[in-house]
This record gives sequence, structure tokens and C-alpha cells, in this order.
Amino acid sequence: MNQDIGKGGRKLHVVVVGAGILGASIAYHLTLHGAQVTIVDAGQPGEGATRVAFAWLNAYGKTPFSYHDLNRRSIDMWAGFARRLGIDVTWGGELRWAATDAGAAALAEQAEALQAWGYPTRILDADQVGQLEPDLRFDAFTAASYTYSDGHVDTAAVMRACLAAACERGAVVRAGSAVTGVEIGRSRAGLPRAEAVRIGDDVVSCDAVALVGGADMPALAEMAGIQVPHYHTFGATLLTQPLPPLFKTIALLHSPRERQPLINVRQLPNGAVMIQSGSLDNTQEGDRGATDAEAAQIAADARAVLPMLRDIEIAEVRRGRRPIPQDGRSIVGFAPEVANVYVATTHSGVTLTPLIGAFAAIEIVHGARVEVLAPFRPERFGSPV
Ligand SMILES: Cc1cc2nc3c(=O)[nH]c(=O)nc-3n(C[C@H](O)[C@H](O)[C@H](O)COP(=O)(O)OP(=O)(O)OC[C@H]3O[C@@H](n4cnc5c(N)ncnc54)[C@H](O)[C@@H]3O)c2cc1C
Repeated sequence: MNQDIGKGGRKLHVVVVGAGILGASIAYHLTLHGAQVTIVDAGQPGEGATRVAFAWLNAYGKTPFSYHDLNRRSIDMWAGFARRLGIDVTWGGELRWAATDAGAAALAEQAEALQAWGYPTRILDADQVGQLEPDLRFDAFTAASYTYSDGHVDTAAVMRACLAAACERGAVVRAGSAVTGVEIGRSRAGLPRAEAVRIGDDVVSCDAVALVGGADMPALAEMAGIQVPHYHTFGATLLTQPLPPLFKTIALLHSPRERQPLINVRQLPNGAVMIQSGSLDNTQEGDRGATDAEAAQIAADARAVLPMLRDIEIAEVRRGRRPIPQDGRSIVGFAPEVANVYVATTHSGVTLTPLIGAFAAIEIVHGARVEVLAPFRPERFGSPV
């Protein structure tokens, strides 16, 4: 952070643009460090990607090691974060099964790679799965893998708790307030710096700005003369009517990756089952579920693949945009172009909520550079043309 802000005894005023789960976490952590925070959203807080998210807390299949490790650290931070906010995390681990020999071999190879990075994934046979989940039946089975460290969260509850805790420390939430511009002036050293954000005719002055706009990051960054190489894919999740508890131990279940359709399942604390059905790489192709007919087909597929879901009915379909940095990894840090503008955007933003919130606040308020964020700086994309 610039050395000349927030001096003179007054609190540092940070405007956080975007009240999704990342903006809410950054705002909350900023208040823990004594900053005055205004958090602004074009719509209602948490109505972007955050509302749609499958919300699996994981570091599975994330490469390279630095990105896996970032996610892993954040999973480890979730328990303390949740305790401080008084919210629940559904722990219990992630189970996936294979339906073919090739699928079993792929699971074993992935488990071996994850074990070498210290991730607690192991291969189970049918009997071992039966011990873990006696009521689980599959249409076809050759092997399974189980990762005990993983969990999931209710993103709406996280949002409410972060914003309430931030407001208790003086933060102001401005919903329905689209930021339309960022006013750029000059620091004493003659460098560009953000002086205020514009919300229509309203000008909100600030010492620093955090841009946390999810899929709208490119447009938002452009307002500050910043480049954030970024795209988005279509994302969808289905919610069923509340069902009796599906699982004894596990928190999440993934169908075989070697065949279509992919079915991802978790059960929320209120009994509703969330189902997601994407391609193998939903960061490239996005999810199924854009139309009601597709959503109905996902439900039919889930009933066929998992006997325990035979009675599901669709209660709600959530649709949105999944924010994805150009190289698939988080972009976090001060923008090289404007020294007091901080950017934070990522896929896996639910997993990364405690870590990005906590570390961004330290960097914005204290001017520190948190070492583990070094591979994720905006500068890695090179100088803007
Ligand atoms: C289907 C799906 C499944 C997913 N599954 C997982 C998962 O299992 N695990 C995981 O960790 N992550 C998952 N994710 C990713 C995760 O949801 C996102 O990374 C995370 O929600 C991003 O949070 P955010 O706060 O950056 O963005 P958002 O929640 O999109 O919030 C951005 C906010 O910025 C606001 N905004 C934009 N422009 C402006 C403006 N000009 N002025 C004011 N406000 C503005 C928007 O209104 C919005 O509220 C999934 C995403 C999808 C879509």
C-alpha cells in the first residue's frame, strides 16, 4: 500500500467493490485490522457466482503445487474462520467412484500424485466404501477414492456472517449501487492513485479500493485503467426438496469422471441436495442446466446414476457466471498500474475465502507482501500494452 495513506490519526478508508463471498471476506478482515470499510454491490450481496457455487472446499486436481498449496492452506483456515463468525462447515470428506478399469487406474494415479503433495486421498474398494457409507449403491463400480479433509459450506450463511461482523465494526454496505467509475489522481510522488469511486453521481472518496467483481472484473478493472486477464463460463446448480440425511460420513460425492453425465452431489444442512453437472473441465466448457429442460435431464440422470436420489424433485435452479482468471489461477494483489487499487479474483473462490480475505486485508492495511501470494500477482501477465 502507498506509504502516504491513512495517516493523521484517521482510519484508512477502503472501498470494496463487489459483495460476493470474496468481497465480504476481505471487508470483514479489513475491519479486523481497524480499517473503515464501505462495501458496494451493483445488486444484492451474494447474488453472483457465490449463490450458484457448489461450494466444495478442496485442493483436488489443482495444479501447480503453489496453487494446490494455496487452496490447501485456505481449507486449513476454514475452521478458525467459521468459529470466529459462528457458522458451520459440513466436513466429512469427498468420495468419488469409478465405473471402469480405466477409471479406476486414473483414480489411483491421481491419488498417488495428491499423496506426494501431502493431500489425504486414498483408494477404497467396494467393502471399504460400504463401511464408510452403508446405504450407498452405484449403477457400476470398480474403485473409489476418498479425501477426508474436504467439506462444503452454505455460502449464503457465510455472506450474512461476514457482512454482519464487518458492520458491527463500522462497515457500511451499499447494495443496488453499481460502481460506474474510479477517479484516478496522482500521489505525492506523481504516480497514479485511486482517489474515489463513482456510483452514478455519487463520489465516494477513499484511501484504497479493492476490486472484487467476480465475472465482471474486466469491466471493473478497466474503470481504473487496469488489465485483469479473465473470462467466465456458465455455471448452474440444482437444489432438490429437503431429503432425509443421505450420508453417514462423507460430505460430497462425485460420479465417475470417465463417462458422461458427470453428477456432483452434496447435501445442505436443511436437507436440500445440491447437484451440479458439468464437463470434466468446467473451467473451459461450463455446466449443463442453461434451460429448464436441461435441468430436468440432470435430475433424471442423477436418479439413474444414484439409487438414493430416485425420489428427488427440482425445487430451484441457480444459474450464473463462473469467474476464471486467464491462466486458471487466482489473481490477488495491488495492480501494477495504480498503486492503491487491489484486485482479487479467482475460480475456487469459496475454498479460498478465508485465505484471500485474511491476506488481502494484511496487504491493504499494513503494506506487507504475503509470501505465499507471490505466484498469484497481477504482474505475472506482463505490462499492459
Ligand atoms: C456452478 C459453480 C460451481 C462452483 N463450485 C465451486 C466449488 O465447488 N468450490 C469453490 O471453491 N468455488 C466454486 N465456484 C467458484 C466460486 O463460486 C467463485 O470463485 C466465487 O463465488 C467468487 O466470488 P466473488 O466474490 O469473486 O464473485 P461473485 O460472487 O460473483 O461476486 C461479485 C460481485 O461483484 C458485483 N459487481 C460486479 N460489478 C460491479 C460494479 N460495477 N459495481 C458494484 N458491484 C459490482 C456483483 O454484483 C457481484 O455481487 C463455483 C462457481 C460456480 C458458478
